[in-house]
Amino acid sequence: MLVVMKSGAAPEQVERVCQEIRTLGFTPHAMPGAGRTAIGITGNKGPVNALPFEALAGVEQCIPVTKGYKLVLREMKPEGTRVQVNGCEMGGGTNFTLIAGPCSVESTQQMETVAKFLKDQGVKILRGGAFKPRTSPYSFQGLEEEGLDILKDVGARFGLGTITEVMDTGAVEAVEAHAGILQIGARNMQNFSLLKRVGKAAKPVFLKRGMSATLEEFLLAAEYVLHGGNHNVILCERGVRTFADHARNTLDLSIIPSVQKLSHLPIFADPSHAIGKREFVEPMAKAALAAGADGLMVEVTPDPDHALSDGAQTLNFKDFERLLKSLRPLAQALGRKIN
Ligand code: PEP
Ligand code: MN
Repeated sequence: MLVVMKSGAAPEQVERVCQEIRTLGFTPHAMPGAGRTAIGITGNKGPVNALPFEALAGVEQCIPVTKGYKLVLREMKPEGTRVQVNGCEMGGGTNFTLIAGPCSVESTQQMETVAKFLKDQGVKILRGGAFKPRTSPYSFQGLEEEGLDILKDVGARFGLGTITEVMDTGAVEAVEAHAGILQIGARNMQNFSLLKRVGKAAKPVFLKRGMSATLEEFLLAAEYVLHGGNHNVILCERGVRTFADHARNTLDLSIIPSVQKLSHLPIFADPSHAIGKREFVEPMAKAALAAGADGLMVEVTPDPDHALSDGAQTLNFKDFERLLKSLRPLAQALGRKIN
């Protein structure tokens, strides 16, 4: 059940509701929003009786929840979650945020070149994998700790926010100390111990959809993170496995409005990993913007043909500039602000 407080309810009234929840042996999760606070109840095995709550001062209504996810529900925060990283606001309807950078951090020089370019383009968040989840053990596995140091250093020097993947619980502390956003990759979307661990992290989480995950499984994975206490979660559609063999994956744009109807969490699209071919990144990116995505994650590096991972889907600087140029009029027509 969710307890929705009246707008302007006093903090003591919110606390009184939380106390009542604790008295029943359950856990309250208060989520203050722009208009009002909603309080999710977890730990209950069956339905919770709404009557005692409806009688409390400041309570507007109680909403029963039948699904396994509660805290991600739009009713918890109807205006949508906004995640702030390094002065860049993601989510909330108007912002359309670009996260860009190479698949893998390969060297300081590569990251400096990318950072300078992206800064000039107005991009605020730099990506780069240090720990790479590779299908083959013989493929480049990432620079690991050295990659984290490079990303942190370059991000700081160029005033960019940063994001990198964390593959296991043991690496969370180090990644948290080096990056602004923790990425959970598609292959780890249901790594529940990792989800629990990043639920305790102080940094926002960028959760990529598993390659065969349903909407429900995706939202339940996010629920793990919110349940741990970390409410700063961004979802990302990165393509799913289908029978189609003309592309690496199939970008499932239909999940964007579906997530937005059910959940307050921002939803990004990653056209690079979805399509797998750089020439099709631009049309897929435009389609994601048109479908209402909150932003994009795009792979870009100076020399994609010699990239150590995902070169075929990675844009060069010229392609990226063209992409931005084609997104701008579309964003403007849709009332979206590229940041
Ligand atoms: C990545 O972003 O580099 C990545 C490995 O993505 P995914 O988990 O979506 O495959
Ligand atoms: Mn990649």
